[in-house]
Amino acid sequence: MATDSTASNIANELAGDIHSGLLRPGDMFPSERSLCGRFGVGRSIVRDGMTILHGMGLADHAKGMRPRVAVPKLSRVMLGASDAAQYFFKDNEGRAHLQQARLFLETSMVQYAVQNASNAQIAKMVGAVEECDTNLDNIAGFRNADVKFHRALAEVPGNPIFVALHETFVDRLMKRAPIEDNLLAHNQISNEGHKEIISAILAKDSGAAVRSLTEHLVRNYETFLHRSLINKILKT
Ligand SMILES: [Zn+2]
Repeated sequence: MATDSTASNIANELAGDIHSGLLRPGDMFPSERSLCGRFGVGRSIVRDGMTILHGMGLADHAKGMRPRVAVPKLSRVMLGASDAAQYFFKDNEGRAHLQQARLFLETSMVQYAVQNASNAQIAKMVGAVEECDTNLDNIAGFRNADVKFHRALAEVPGNPIFVALHETFVDRLMKRAPIEDNLLAHNQISNEGHKEIISAILAKDSGAAVRSLTEHLVRNYETFLHRSLINKILKT
């Protein structure tokens, strides 16, 4: 019998069975009855444990069937992290940290793109820039297209971690960023930045690509950093 018979412990134990390979994707989980025996608890606690596993993306949920082991999707796991992460990025200081992290990550990605982006991948970036141009005075439309541009960049290496990071931190947080005072001018300059980045990728000019991207992101970074510093001064 397990010493800690809470639902979260049951979920953790079963997750451990999956990570160790004892249970494989597609396998049926042991019956409720056997799990009740293994953990020394009633059915309701076992069911709560399965609900937690489902939330972790490790169990499927077909009605009336015994749950099976599912393969968790990285983007879904990160989405859970993203909900919790909102807390850290809600103020200007948090947003400045986020922009700096983006800067580190995206400058590496743009250098990779200069060397490796396919014509189809560059065409996707161009499509996003055109969408930005038609949405210069539309907050939601512009942000949506802006996110698409940076996502296209994150997709170039074909590494799901970069795309998941993008979805988690850039996509959702960018859409919630405070609205700038001078929207049209801000968006115009922003999209000029995207165009410079694409030109540099096409010219295979790694230095220019990094410079353009840095300028593009630092604008936001400095905005939030300055606001954060001003707020601190005002508080004291
Ligand atoms: Zn952008």
